[in-house]
Amino acid sequence: MMVNIFYAGNNDEWDEYKVHIKNALDDLDIKYSMTRNPKNPLEIDYIVYAPNGPLKDFKPFKNVKLVQNLWAGVEVPISNKSLTQPLARMVEPGLTIGMADYVMGHVLRYHLGTDNFYKAKPGEWLGENIPPLSKNRAIGILGLGELGMHCANKLSEFGFKVSGWSRTEKKHPQIQCLTGNIGFEKILNSSEIIILLLPNTEETKRIINQKNINKMLDGVSIINPGRGTLIDDEALIEALNSGKINGATLDTFDTEPLPKSHPYWFHPNVLVTPHIASATRVDSACEIIADNIKRGENQKPFRYLVDRLSGY
Ligand code: NDP
Repeated sequence: MMVNIFYAGNNDEWDEYKVHIKNALDDLDIKYSMTRNPKNPLEIDYIVYAPNGPLKDFKPFKNVKLVQNLWAGVEVPISNKSLTQPLARMVEPGLTIGMADYVMGHVLRYHLGTDNFYKAKPGEWLGENIPPLSKNRAIGILGLGELGMHCANKLSEFGFKVSGWSRTEKKHPQIQCLTGNIGFEKILNSSEIIILLLPNTEETKRIINQKNINKMLDGVSIINPGRGTLIDDEALIEALNSGKINGATLDTFDTEPLPKSHPYWFHPNVLVTPHIASATRVDSACEIIADNIKRGENQKPFRYLVDRLSGY
């Protein structure tokens, strides 16, 4: 088999992708040519795409079998009206493991109350602040997809009491899996640490708003590596000021980089991380890309296709 690939990812990553796509396609014995500047769009079979790459108009690529997004989030390609070809989001082990590392680190920070000790003045001996055991700490994850479920598993294996919420029903022997409005209320009013791993869709926009914050336990902590659009910033800041919310660790924002003057930078109970919770790792991502190309050439269903109706 011989395929023509258009690399429409970020130019800075071209050298790395070039090497790893070659390795992955060679391993599967797929002959290919790959370019950053296709002369004839009609000859392109597959597009490797990143929202921060050069491609905006997909219309000329009439014979493309798959647009493989290099990111997990698909709000940018989904909103591109010229993109009508099948679209796959990125699911790959590096991205998944990285997210669990980030989530575990910040859950433990809140669980142990570490920030209190950082903030202590010299001589302030906070000896009464003994954390509960992990088995008595309730963690809620909004979004039990590839990333959310992996984080739920890791937190549960560590010993935390974990609940998760998703659109469709899931079953898991150790994790309380919830759906619908009743499930949403239950996770809000029982979780001490809430992690947001929902995609950015019409339904999830500003899901963390004043009304829903009021349903949460007093002193809850929030970790948002999902998307900035999930949170009503004003409501969150108000809840942080009143102490309803103990702390927020935020990795994603409406505007990125987060503007210098944004109140989050100055809030003592907010930790801003610069969208580094996780990232696609080129070597393992290329194995997924190659596998999807092989599937396309063998008329097998692609993996991780985006459902445009649900928006993720
Ligand atoms: P998935 O599509 O695998 O999972 C999304 C989860 O959200 C699913 O469990 C889905 O439910 C649930 N969901 C979606 N809409 C609703 C809704 N209306 N009500 C209830 N549940 C809903 O995505 P991933 O796990 O791969 O990624 C999640 C998000 O993480 C990405 O969309 C991206 O925004 C963000 N991300 C952030 C990164 C960072 O560095 N900060 C890196 C990578 C991703 P169901 O299972 O029923 O479909």
